Amino acid sequence: MARLFEKTVPAPPNEYVRVECESLKSFVSAVLSAFKVSEEHSRIVADVLVTADLMGIESHGVQRLKRYTMGIQVGSVNPHACLKVVKKSASTALVDGGSGLGQVTAYNAMEIAIRKAEEVGVSVVGVRNSHHFGIAGYYALQAVKHGMIGMVMTNSEALVAYTHTVGRSVGTNPIAVSFPTKNPPPVLFDAATSVIPIGKVEVYAKENKKIPLGWAISPEGKLLDDPKEVLTRKGAILPLGGFGEDFGGHKGAGLALVVDLLCGVLTGANYGKNVKHTTDKERANVGHFMLAIDIAKLTPMEDFLERIEEYKGYVKGLTKASEEAEVWIPGEKAWLTMETRKRIGIPIHKNILKELKEESEKAGVEFNIKVLKETA
Ligand code: NDP
Repeated sequence: MARLFEKTVPAPPNEYVRVECESLKSFVSAVLSAFKVSEEHSRIVADVLVTADLMGIESHGVQRLKRYTMGIQVGSVNPHACLKVVKKSASTALVDGGSGLGQVTAYNAMEIAIRKAEEVGVSVVGVRNSHHFGIAGYYALQAVKHGMIGMVMTNSEALVAYTHTVGRSVGTNPIAVSFPTKNPPPVLFDAATSVIPIGKVEVYAKENKKIPLGWAISPEGKLLDDPKEVLTRKGAILPLGGFGEDFGGHKGAGLALVVDLLCGVLTGANYGKNVKHTTDKERANVGHFMLAIDIAKLTPMEDFLERIEEYKGYVKGLTKASEEAEVWIPGEKAWLTMETRKRIGIPIHKNILKELKEESEKAGVEFNIKVLKETA
């Protein structure tokens, strides 16, 4: 049995409760169904959100439920939307998400990419007219289940100050790449191209904590440590690498630009400041980019699996910076956190639980999340 490990916990312990993951999923699904989302689609969204919490990515977990229900309420998200293929070839497809929930659109787009890669070895699916889809890694891992490498990107509403500028101009535009392995966990690198995703600032604000200096700047270019100021005054997040060029901020900005070109420009979705938030009245038109590579079409699967284990061993064997340091393969911490939380429950901050209760009241759904352990 894997050791107990959690990459993040909303400390101090008297401020959160542990909840059982299946009851959390059913609850999220029931709330979405009450907002006229089909049962099948509600289940997909609930699975993506709760998987984020299981993996220790609470910035993109159930604390985001309100964003999607509000999106439906203001009419920006179409709860009945179905994905349409607008152009296709043996190895490509361009799909239109019909302004539906991003999770449902992205899940189905990746399934198309996988089916095409099974036929022709590699495939690309571009998505336009979608919405915020949560964690990019969820869809990259769909490919792993089929013995494939998955690559997933999305643009987001503008939140980041492009290098040497102030104000929000590009999204936090994440990139996720996954690889199957012989022994779990699969390798999954999944990261925003900014120092942090805005969801982390939201979590700090809900937990009344200061953010580290270096995450965000004010509209005037001053470093900020108050998360509420970032959220209310439209402070901008810094690109991966931080402020200016000294620590590679220009490389993070460059990666965000590449994601915007693939997700926005290539697909006909919006890009830069034109990408809207889920709760804006204007059409969000978020774009995604999915790529699937069937490994067996390039090299025997057994050889690949042996070589990837060798590679993992190579990384794990590197000289550590200190006795206490632990060397991690991307995806490993998230996997251990998931295994742990399936056993002992997901820690949910009390303020977020309160928000979920309000959602249940709005939706007229019973607040029946199973609390496993009330920490003293
Ligand atoms: P993190 O900084 O938490 O992690 C980035 C990657 O680095 C993960 O794959 C992580 O693996 C890996 N990692 C962590 N520590 C180490 C280490 N010591 N050595 C090697 N690898 C390590 O991610 P972000 O905060 O940038 O992003 C969080 C989530 O937000 C992502 O899922 C992303 O897709 C999502 N996001 C979504 C957006 C949207 O618009 N939909 C916008 C921006 C972000 P592990 O998970 O195992 O720790």
